[in-house]
Amino acid sequence: MNNLAEIAAALARAERVLICGHVMPDGDSLGSVLAMGIILETMGKKVTMAGADQAPVIYSFLPRLEKYRAGLPPEGEYDTLVVLDCSVPDRLGDGFKELLDSDLVVINLDHHVSSVHFGKYNYIEPAASAVGEIIYDLINEMGLEITLDIALCLYTAIVTDTGSFQYDNTSPDTLRRVAKLMEIGVPAAKVNTLIYEERPKAVFFLLGSALSTLTASPCGKVCWMTVTLEMLQNSSASDEHTEGLVNYAKSVRGVQVGMLFREIKEGSYKISFRSKDVVDVNRLATPFGGGGHPHAAGCLIQGDLKEIKEKVISAALLAVRGINQ
Ligand code: 5GP
Ligand code: MN
Repeated sequence: MNNLAEIAAALARAERVLICGHVMPDGDSLGSVLAMGIILETMGKKVTMAGADQAPVIYSFLPRLEKYRAGLPPEGEYDTLVVLDCSVPDRLGDGFKELLDSDLVVINLDHHVSSVHFGKYNYIEPAASAVGEIIYDLINEMGLEITLDIALCLYTAIVTDTGSFQYDNTSPDTLRRVAKLMEIGVPAAKVNTLIYEERPKAVFFLLGSALSTLTASPCGKVCWMTVTLEMLQNSSASDEHTEGLVNYAKSVRGVQVGMLFREIKEGSYKISFRSKDVVDVNRLATPFGGGGHPHAAGCLIQGDLKEIKEKVISAALLAVRGINQ
């Protein structure tokens, strides 16, 4: 692995940079891509920011979001690819992951325990709550200023990936960095309102129908919800409106593992895993081709929903029983 000084030196050598986050981007992915974009533009680089999927509308307030492009950027215009918040090449999405095999200099910054060192330069720090924290440190390493625009992006990255500072990835250093971002001028309460209290009604109609699927195992330690394409359609909701739903399954008293089974397209299901305490859901998701963090992970499985549920719920029950052994 490289250190931040080596990452800073590699970025200094770059001229035309493509910056990418993961499929179905979240606050950390977008905030980190935009903060990195602003920094590299300040350094005089030609910057393109892109990802496989559209940015959720909720993040419209982020500076420079209008420059983020959903879909593949034009070929051959770059010398360097910066990949942020992607634990494995697949998380870049189709078309993007193939760029890793090109002759671009790949710089990979991530914070997942399950992260693969697919870059020429890799900086992986699982102790960071968000890639936003890594970029905060990188900017300091570079001796550059964290402007208010950058601070807004980094705050958004950190507040979303820590579940508003609730999860145990929130360290004293996380809060020290956030305090600095607030001193720079981030209106934290206003940003929190924009992210969490300006949701379209469709989110709540979807929540209502998703909650009606809430099911717990007989032992009460595993709980899950289901969202089908039909439910999305009936609520006039789209995929981005499923963000955070899995937390309801986790929040039930006595539950150790909460899961959301979400139909992405016919025969294709995304499973989100959340652990309250001791179960390592990164390990739970890995045999299904996924991964993530010890307390938040996901995977994508093709097949029949009933069969998928049987397999995944059995694995979750085994993981939960492991706690008592
Ligand atoms: P979410 O459930 O919010 O989509 O994702 C939770 C965490 O699991 C995130 O840190 C994300 O990076 C990881 N994750 C989600 N889906 C996948 C997947 O299909 N593959 C891998 N490797 N990680 C995933
Ligand atoms: Mn992240």
